[in-house]
Amino acid sequence: MKIGILNLQGDVSEHYEITEKALEDMNIEVNICKVKTREEVSKCDGIIISGGESTVIGKLMEQTGIMKVIVDQNIPVMGTCAGMVLLAKKTDYEQPLLGLIDMKVKRNAFGRQKVSFEDEIEIFGEKFKGVFIRAPYIEKVGENVDILSKYNEKIIAVKSGKNIATAFHPELTGDTRIHKYFIKEALNCAE
Ligand code: GLN
Repeated sequence: MKIGILNLQGDVSEHYEITEKALEDMNIEVNICKVKTREEVSKCDGIIISGGESTVIGKLMEQTGIMKVIVDQNIPVMGTCAGMVLLAKKTDYEQPLLGLIDMKVKRNAFGRQKVSFEDEIEIFGEKFKGVFIRAPYIEKVGENVDILSKYNEKIIAVKSGKNIATAFHPELTGDTRIHKYFIKEALNCAE
């Protein structure tokens, strides 16, 4: 089995390292690799989309045919920040989207004063360090979407089927819990 870190733009290495750490702890036989072509993506059982610029990543995903492969093969996706934007059905901007989670996302939504900030959040009933960088939040979710976390009344993490989206960056915290959660969901395995 294989987890692919989409390697088009953004903080790809940080996701690679934390996923590697998560897999070591979990002690399961799963490969991890950075992927940037349709063929590479098609061989993955789960894809992680990093933070970065969602417009840039989305356009490249469309041009390379990666978007179509993920949707056609129904590959589970974890998206952080820009990755969360790309998972949405709708944003406040015209841009290519995967549309795998029935939600409307507002980009750069925390305002100019809060371009980048850290604060404690709660997810799975546990405390987690929330790192927000020009972060989006979720304005609206459809019926099949579970809300995993809110911050100041705003939805900042959701799950829909095996797809997971966070407005913040767990890959920048050294904390593997959310990555482990995704790996378990995507690969249907117990720790
Ligand atoms: N604001 C960026 C976007 O909408 C996301 C920022 C990030 O990933 N840190 O693409």
